[in-house]
Amino acid sequence: MAKAKTNAKIQTRPPVVAVMGHVDHGKTTLLDYIRKARVASSEHGGITQHIGAYQAEVNGRIITFIDTPGHAAFSAMRSRGAAVTDLVVLVVAADDGVMPQTKESISHIKAANVPMVVAINKMDAPGANVERVKKGLAAEGVLVEGYGGDVVAVPISAKSGEGVKELLEMILLVSDLAELKDTSQANFEGVVIDSSLDKYRGAVATILVKKGSLKVGDQVVSNSASGRIKALITSNGERVSQAVGSMPVGILGLTAVPAVGEVFTLGKGKVGEEKKQQERDDIFVPKVKEVRLLLKADTAGSLEAINAAIESIEVSEGKVNVVHKETGEVTESDILLAASTKSIIIAFNAPVSKTVASLAAEDKVLIRSYNLIYELLDELKEGVDALLNVKKEEVVGKAEVVAIFKADAARVAGCKVSEGQLSKGDKVNITRGERNLGTAKIKTMKHLQEDINSASVGDEFGMTLEGKADFAVGDIIEAVR
Ligand code: GDP
Repeated sequence: MAKAKTNAKIQTRPPVVAVMGHVDHGKTTLLDYIRKARVASSEHGGITQHIGAYQAEVNGRIITFIDTPGHAAFSAMRSRGAAVTDLVVLVVAADDGVMPQTKESISHIKAANVPMVVAINKMDAPGANVERVKKGLAAEGVLVEGYGGDVVAVPISAKSGEGVKELLEMILLVSDLAELKDTSQANFEGVVIDSSLDKYRGAVATILVKKGSLKVGDQVVSNSASGRIKALITSNGERVSQAVGSMPVGILGLTAVPAVGEVFTLGKGKVGEEKKQQERDDIFVPKVKEVRLLLKADTAGSLEAINAAIESIEVSEGKVNVVHKETGEVTESDILLAASTKSIIIAFNAPVSKTVASLAAEDKVLIRSYNLIYELLDELKEGVDALLNVKKEEVVGKAEVVAIFKADAARVAGCKVSEGQLSKGDKVNITRGERNLGTAKIKTMKHLQEDINSASVGDEFGMTLEGKADFAVGDIIEAVR
């Protein structure tokens, strides 16, 4: 029988969801409730394993939950460049409203640019007030339905389970809108979401499959560990022979304990630090030059004053963006946020403990401390301009990649010039949408079979690039001098 052609959406991978919010607002209770109510118990008598994530079933579909609540794990992953989370559930207690860590979570979610669904929890508690929560969220720029926005907010009780099914359905709906890419055909790539050294089993790690699939017997490698997969264990304690997209699995067989956020690929060799750095840069380098700041100050008054002064700084090119601002001392969480968003921390009369300072050094986060406001402003004005104008480059030509082919084992970008001129030897910036993919140099240029030295508006030509250049059809290649 011939298969009927339908327009139905292609089944992509399940969404990967993290839960964030203020302490005691019910993150753990929610994750526990979903695990108990929605995880099919093992047929093989496996024992539930806490491997850092689990998969829940809703109306025959699957959602992967990272079950370390809070943003520490989330940031640790992002600071290493591994964006595993597709959606965040922001838990806000209806009897408490928006609190400092709610705000912090919002900054993390915005910085990661992932969609969110708000769970207004503790609806059963006396004093529950949905409108107050929605108003509080609006003040933080999170506009839910009825407040001029379209962020979905679902009232729930994690304790009784009331509303949780609706929350799960909304998670599926919102992630359907985000159209997660089907990566099942890609080469395997997995991110470490948990790891430890087991007395009997050696190095164990939980990997979340981002791309492709992982099988028992595969040889894998990350920045600090490698090995042959001896066993794959699900959160139900079952051994499986293969793990597919968005599936969390415990793996045995590693030579060393990898860090959370490390990326595993297939292979035996060591992944070079250079490639890693390139991957990180790909994710975080914004197209517009931008200086990102994280502000900490002793009082709300000075915080606002500094923020206002920063907003009024005029820069000749690019922009200054305050990623997060808060009163109080500089915390480990600030360092993680700064590392994952590549921000500089500005501490005004805000103490920095030794532990925090050494974490900052480890994560290469810059903290600038001040006690005098004019000093801070003077330095900022100079510093920001200096940071934004490290290199002045002029775009001399622009071309779009219209085709890709191979010649003598080299990848050739078939381009059409849309502006100016591109010449052999020019330095080029490659961008895909908003993402900066890096720079390279034009190595060879050809028109049909003939070698050429430059191409102008309207010309079609093929070129090869020197340097680690990734390009695809639709990318823009700009020549700069
Ligand atoms: P977390 O710090 O965000 O992980 O919060 P927990 O899940 O540990 O919950 C903190 C407290 O709130 C616990 O005492 C829970 O029993 C309670 N709690 C969580 N969800 C609800 C709820 O829906 N209703 C009520 N009344 N209490 C809840």
